[in-house]
Amino acid sequence: MRERALLMQDVTPFRDQGCKYCREFWISHSDQPKLIGVSLEYQCHLYRCGMCQSWWEYGLNHPHVIDRELADAIAADIVQSSS
Ligand SMILES: [Zn+2]
Repeated sequence: MRERALLMQDVTPFRDQGCKYCREFWISHSDQPKLIGVSLEYQCHLYRCGMCQSWWEYGLNHPHVIDRELADAIAADIVQSSS
């Protein structure tokens, strides 16, 4: 049972993603995270929280925090599409 619990920690629970400001955005409407842009290639909206600097992706799945590397790739695509 203990081993199974450890494996489940590979997926970060929603309540542990970002901070309370950006999490609440998806439930109510706080002013974080800010919409950075829409990526056609990744088919998602990219958001960033000004409080905890977390990057959020909102695409085909429910919103979730993504790592910096993926955020950079998506942001680069947004810049290209908007120019
Ligand atoms: Zn946050």
